[in-house]
Amino acid sequence: MALSNIEKESKYIYRIRKTGSMKVDAVVLSDYETIDEDAVEQIKNVATLPGIVHYALAMPDIHWGYGFPIGGVAAFDIEDGVISPGGVGFDINCGVRMLVVEGHSNLVKDNLEVIIQRLYEAIPVGVGERSEKKFSRKEFKEIVEKGAKKVIELGYGYQDDLERIEDFGCIRECDFSNVSEEAFERGKDELGTLGAGNHFLEVQEVAEVYDEEVAKILGVEKGMITVLIHTGSRGFGHQIATDYIKLMRDNLKEHNKNLPDKQLINAPFKSDWGQKYYSAMNCAANYAFANRQIITHLIRKVFKTVLGVNVRVIYDIAHNIAKVEEHVVDGKKRKLVVHRKGATRAFGPGNDVLPEIFKRTGQPVIIPGSMGTASYLLVGTKKAEEMTFGSTAHGAGRALGRREATRELSTERVLNELKSKGIKIMAKSKKGIVEEAPEAYKDVDKVVQIVDELGISLKVAKCIPLGVMKG
Ligand code: 5GP
Ligand code: MN
Ligand code: MN
Repeated sequence: MALSNIEKESKYIYRIRKTGSMKVDAVVLSDYETIDEDAVEQIKNVATLPGIVHYALAMPDIHWGYGFPIGGVAAFDIEDGVISPGGVGFDINCGVRMLVVEGHSNLVKDNLEVIIQRLYEAIPVGVGERSEKKFSRKEFKEIVEKGAKKVIELGYGYQDDLERIEDFGCIRECDFSNVSEEAFERGKDELGTLGAGNHFLEVQEVAEVYDEEVAKILGVEKGMITVLIHTGSRGFGHQIATDYIKLMRDNLKEHNKNLPDKQLINAPFKSDWGQKYYSAMNCAANYAFANRQIITHLIRKVFKTVLGVNVRVIYDIAHNIAKVEEHVVDGKKRKLVVHRKGATRAFGPGNDVLPEIFKRTGQPVIIPGSMGTASYLLVGTKKAEEMTFGSTAHGAGRALGRREATRELSTERVLNELKSKGIKIMAKSKKGIVEEAPEAYKDVDKVVQIVDELGISLKVAKCIPLGVMKG
């Protein structure tokens, strides 16, 4: 592949020096082989935005996205930097939650068919699928302002779950009055639903442990059964992103007139529009934490009823979000608006924002692979705080676009391959199966090897799929 102006700095670190209107360099963490040219163009465009600090970053799972690449990290100065809906993504606080099933793993394995079937019945999946749970407008407002905490108060889970969620499942800087009626209408019946496409629920087994001590503190052991939930803020977050892209386009023409790509539409963070989007985005972030909390409750009910066993939360991370954080840049502490789009926060041991338990280990990081390959549990590091604004990869990343996958792969072959590996699948749509085929994603083992070798997150355990539920 011929990428111009890209220099190898050291193993897995590639730098594109600033040229033209780029304000900072772009740095891609990769093995080079899988760098996608379009995504590199995008990260260079991100480097032109006002107030960007240090460098625009891409993780090894980088691929093309709306405006900003997926697998991109960009930090902006809080005073003269910007916030951009495209730097967060349409699925605000899309994220992953890992659970562990207590009791002997054979109990689950021997009853896998029933478990998957019951999970499929209990959790609404698929496009526009609605929830049976109805919340009043008042409750809804409280849910999007208090996140997981509020739904726990309503009976969906335990207080202990909260420290196992990034930011304790609630981001305070939110304001429901900045959310449109349309977003509310789309969101009100979708709390506790998985959605479609890339979203999934997977029952897995811990196949390997790399760090016994850390795994033990996190609550994971070899042979245990885990459940992974991947979903976000559903139509609610999507509508908020859509609304603010339009509002910024209509109201901030002058500010945005020199954009290299109109999908990079943004607002100065401290401006009225910047603050409005930020507070509405956080409502969607809280919605997503609440969504994964309600789904956890539904999963717990299934395991309790069918097998009489309990289910614990290991951790819940956001991988599409912008956050105000303090980072040291060139020896100086600065307040930044860190955009992680298809990237996971990876704070190291001792970080002030972490609960006591993770101050010992670093923040847990979850990197899913695909329905036919492994997924990983890792922990964040000091090195990530120094090098990547405390960030790491969020998945294997797409190797084939949805259309390409549909053209190149057949449903039958994907299903046969899963069957030969003994993986059970329940899917709402046939189309989704090829779009989400393991071949449509990059090699997760390689992505994880890169972040681990770079030291921006460290491997703790590997999980392999037993059964998967797709939208
Ligand atoms: P995204 O949020 O970018 O859509 O997806 C995050 C990551 O999830 C993808 O990059 C991919 O590696 C992973 N992934 C997608 N589908 C599945 C699945 O069915 N099971 C698992 N374990 N991972 C998946
Ligand atoms: Mn999503
Ligand atoms: Mn996601």
